[in-house]
Amino acid sequence: MRLHRLVVGLADRVFRCHLRPAVKTLFEKIYDGEIPAEIIHKDDFCCAFRDISPQAPTHVLIVPRKPVPRICEADAEDQTLLGHLLLTATAIARDLGLAESGFRIAINNGPHGGETVPHLHIHLLGGRQLEWPPG
Ligand code: 5GP
Repeated sequence: MRLHRLVVGLADRVFRCHLRPAVKTLFEKIYDGEIPAEIIHKDDFCCAFRDISPQAPTHVLIVPRKPVPRICEADAEDQTLLGHLLLTATAIARDLGLAESGFRIAINNGPHGGETVPHLHIHLLGGRQLEWPPG
């Protein structure tokens, strides 16, 4: 049983690292500059750009370079990356003057979560009073 788990884990890792489809996700293309976007931050691990269809005066997406499809599929190996995304989102909120008025960060996962782009991203929303509960 342990051997089985080991083999399955190894196969998953090989698939994710080496046999991933060569087709880039929409957000990889934005990260690589192949699709234009208003980029407001870029580093070796993530980039942030304005949402094409903003739901608030400030609506920024923070996207890891690594194409993890959704938060549900992140694993222990992504722990540092996830922390980096959250800290980057907060730093951007501060830079855009949202720290005092407040803001929301959200991650949509799967159909009921409202996910439409299968490449993990954090929404940073601010600049107006946001409703709770969300629709
Ligand atoms: P989701 O619905 O998956 O949580 O969020 C995907 C977000 O990506 C949506 O808010 C949508 O407006 C945004 N989006 C989709 N296509 C593009 C694009 O080509 N450029 C930019 N900047 N945002 C996009």
